Amino acid sequence: MLNKMFRNKFPFAYNYFSNLLELVEQNKRNFPQAIIFEGTDTKMQYLFALELARILNCKKDKTNNCDCINCKWIKSHSHPAINNVSQIHFKGEDDESKTVISAKQAREIEKALTLSSDYHRFFIFFSSREKEYEENELECFEKLNYSQDINFSIEPLTYNTFHPTTPNALLKSIEEPPIRTTFIFLTKAREDILPTIVSRCLVFKLSGQKENLKFDEIIPLLQNYPNINYTNAFDISLNFQNYMKETNKTLDNILNEFLEYLVYLLKQNIENIDYYQKINNDILITNEMIKYSKANINDKIVLDTLFLRIARGY
Ligand SMILES: [Zn+2]
Repeated sequence: MLNKMFRNKFPFAYNYFSNLLELVEQNKRNFPQAIIFEGTDTKMQYLFALELARILNCKKDKTNNCDCINCKWIKSHSHPAINNVSQIHFKGEDDESKTVISAKQAREIEKALTLSSDYHRFFIFFSSREKEYEENELECFEKLNYSQDINFSIEPLTYNTFHPTTPNALLKSIEEPPIRTTFIFLTKAREDILPTIVSRCLVFKLSGQKENLKFDEIIPLLQNYPNINYTNAFDISLNFQNYMKETNKTLDNILNEFLEYLVYLLKQNIENIDYYQKINNDILITNEMIKYSKANINDKIVLDTLFLRIARGY
């Protein structure tokens, strides 16, 4: 569903949301109500947010070429339920503030949420000013068939634009929004946002460059981690065995890569208690398996056991 372009840019978020969007479609999970994207490429974060909104609102096949009215509206930046919130967006008539996202805007949002909606509503927060774009500057929009006809910049939130009094006025809306409502905050780093907001959000690090992490190669082998179950545990073990053969890495090498990946995930998800505990538990299992790998137990047995135990949860 999500465009492969994001797979290279934001491998972790791509995997996470691909999996989540499927579960949402099957009514097994709700989409999170508050999300922070942090990283250097705010334009791509914005596009990623729009794509999530598009897939959640699409009435047809969710593909990139979908011609349903929701996809068309979102791609032309005119969907009635997808709201930009910045110093120059979502301002009420009596709001004189021009340099900050104001508490008045937070109250406008609260008011808007009292009305029911047929859509999955999005409020995308970022810093912005009027801007004319050079040719090719919005290439990433073009790649996904989005209109490039926008006249505002897309910049990270900071304490200057997202003033501390505004987040406080927002807390109630974020905590108890109507169903199918999502707040997304675009930032460079979570430290630029008030901690009371951060603690209510899922935080995703969306780095603008391809992250050159040691564990890059094992992410596709893991299918939809953390959703490992008895059915796919052996497939994943087999993927790892093949990966060892292809790369001539030892069992100890790849278990440490996996461990590094888990630690990375853990750091990204400190605020999300369920997910945090699950990863923490898988780290303990992996550490135990690293001990076995040093005891010269057959590679296949160690890997089968690792993923079966992760599926089982202990
Ligand atoms: Zn559609």
